[in-house]
Amino acid sequence: MVSYRLRDWGISRQRYWGAPIPVVYCEGCGMVPVPEAELPVVLPDDVTLSGRGGSPLATHDAFVKTKCPRCGGAARRETDTMDTFVESSWYFARYCSPDDAREPFDPEETAYWLGSRGVDEYIGGIEHAVLHLLYARFFTKVLRDLGFLPLDEPFRQLFTQGMVIKDGAAMSKSRGNVVEPDELIARYGADTARLFCLFAAPPERDLDWSDQGVEGMSRFLHRLWRLVHGVAARLPPPGTPLPAAGAGPDRDLHRLTHATIRRVTDDVVERMHFNTAIAAVMELMGGLGEAVEHAGGAALREAVDTTLMLLAPFVPHVASELWELAGHTTPLDAEPWPVVDPTALVREAVELPVQVNGKVRARITVPADANESEVLAAALGDVRVQMHLAGRTVRRHVVVPGRLVSLVA
Ligand SMILES: [Zn+2]
Repeated sequence: MVSYRLRDWGISRQRYWGAPIPVVYCEGCGMVPVPEAELPVVLPDDVTLSGRGGSPLATHDAFVKTKCPRCGGAARRETDTMDTFVESSWYFARYCSPDDAREPFDPEETAYWLGSRGVDEYIGGIEHAVLHLLYARFFTKVLRDLGFLPLDEPFRQLFTQGMVIKDGAAMSKSRGNVVEPDELIARYGADTARLFCLFAAPPERDLDWSDQGVEGMSRFLHRLWRLVHGVAARLPPPGTPLPAAGAGPDRDLHRLTHATIRRVTDDVVERMHFNTAIAAVMELMGGLGEAVEHAGGAALREAVDTTLMLLAPFVPHVASELWELAGHTTPLDAEPWPVVDPTALVREAVELPVQVNGKVRARITVPADANESEVLAAALGDVRVQMHLAGRTVRRHVVVPGRLVSLVA
C-alpha cells in the first residue's frame, strides 16, 4: 500500500481568476461568512488589470465595499480568490449537469454518468498528473464521506499524452515557438490540421511538429478527393451486395477492406493508436486505387464507403462531402462503425503436392495467392518433407504456382 499525506494547503490567491472566497469583514462582527442565500459571490467583469501585481479585485470599490450580513453595517469583501485546484478537483462531477443552477451537481446525473466507476479514461498531460490527481482523489473522498458522490476513486485509468515539440523544444507561449492552429486551418482546413496531429505520433509520445508533415496530409486528402470523384459514377447504389462467388480482384479488395476495418478498430478502440489506424486507411486507399480498373462495382462501393466511414472521426468534413458525392442520402455521422466480416479475411486455399527427388512425399495447403517464397517456406516447414529430406540440403527447387513444388536434395 502507498500512503500519501496531503499537507496543509493555503488556497488563497491574489488573482482575479478564481472562485471568490465568500467572506466579508465587519468592524463590529469580525469575519462573517456570506449566507447561503446570497451565494454565489459573482466576480465583477470590469476590473482594471494594472500589471503591477496584487489582485485587481482589491482596487474595485464596488466589489470590495459591501454590507455586513449580520449587523447590516459597512463591511469589506474578501478579495483573494481560491486556487484553481479547488475547482479542478471536482469538475468532472460538474460536467454531468453543467446547467444545474441550484447545486454543484445533480445526484441523479452524476449517478448516471459516473456511476460508482468514475471516469473511465482520464486524458491529460503528465505535468498535471501528480498534484491534480492527488487533490481530485482527496476531494472525491471528502464528497463521498459527505454523501454527495457515490465514488471511492474519481478516475479508472490515466492516459498521459505527449507534448508538441517544435525545433527541439516543447511548444509554449513563453518560448514563442507556438504554431497557431488558426493559420493552419485557414490554409489547409481543420481536417488536414487534425489528421496531421493524429498521424504524426501515437498520443502518449511527444509530437514533432513538421510543416512537411502537414503538407503530406494535405496531399493524401487531395488524392482521396480525386479518387472518389473519379470512381463515383461507376458505383452501384449503396448497400449493393458483393457477388457470392466473387474471386480475383473483387475478392482481394473485399479482403483488404475488412482487414482494414479490423486494424483500424483495434488501433482506435483498443490502443488509441490513431497514427497506425490512419496508415491502415492509407493502405486501403492505395489498394482501392490499384483495383479501380479491375474490380467490380460492388467491391469498389464497399471499399469507398468503408474508407470514408473509417476516416470520418479524423476528417469529418472531407469524409461527409465525399459520402454525399458517392450517392448517399443519409448523413455519414449517422452511420454505425463498420463491422468486420470474418469470412472476408479468409484467403482461399489450394493444396499442392511436394516432390522430394522426383517423388511426391507430401501435400501442403497454402493460400491461393501465396508467392513463391511463401510456398517454398510452407513446403520446407512440412514434417513429412523434413523427414524425407533427412537433414540434407536442398540444392534446387521448382515452384509451379497452383501446381506443385519440387525439391532436389
Ligand atoms: Zn457586522
